[in-house]
Amino acid sequence: MHDFVHVSTHPLVLERVTRLRDRTTEPRSFREIVADLARLLFIEASHDLKLRHVTVQTPLAESAGHVVVDRVGLFPILRAGLGMADAILQLVPSAQVWHLGLYRDHETLKPVEYYNKLPERPELDVAIVMDPMLATGGSASAVIEILQKRGVPKIKFLGLIAAPEGVRSLREQFPQVPLHLAALDSHLNESGYIVPGLGDAGDRQFAT
Ligand code: URA
Repeated sequence: MHDFVHVSTHPLVLERVTRLRDRTTEPRSFREIVADLARLLFIEASHDLKLRHVTVQTPLAESAGHVVVDRVGLFPILRAGLGMADAILQLVPSAQVWHLGLYRDHETLKPVEYYNKLPERPELDVAIVMDPMLATGGSASAVIEILQKRGVPKIKFLGLIAAPEGVRSLREQFPQVPLHLAALDSHLNESGYIVPGLGDAGDRQFAT
């Protein structure tokens, strides 16, 4: 669709998305698959993290090595993004996790902010905004706007399943924010659900 929209074609991603969509997948497996997909997409999205050269001593000799120096912030959109952040934290344990609470008003489909403790100037080099479902893009764009206003230099979005409407909206508003997705679906239905999608990502993770 665009250089800044990455839809994974990795076989392990494709297989997991299929299991995620399956209505018979139970919450426990669903959570595990969300975690796996979040890590797989994060690996693709984090290829440009800045490194510093170091040396280490192996049992045999000195070896050149690297440490990641970029300060990473994870921004799961509550509540469905939580499972993604926990999984990515295992790869970057030093990452900051900031919770931004937004819910989607069922009538207007617009995001309503109910929790935000983000400092005025977060000390971050890269922010990863994550939500399993990119539907209208309303919540993601509200978070990206907050981060841009607070001076975060690099922002990326990680989503499991996106609708073309959400992708278009983010592309228009934030052309420099790359989107890393596991699947791009057909459309949104009149209730704002992604079709074919997987249903409600929060309900399916948390059995509600
Ligand atoms: N949020 C969900 O959980 N599912 C959708 O299909 C759209 C938004």
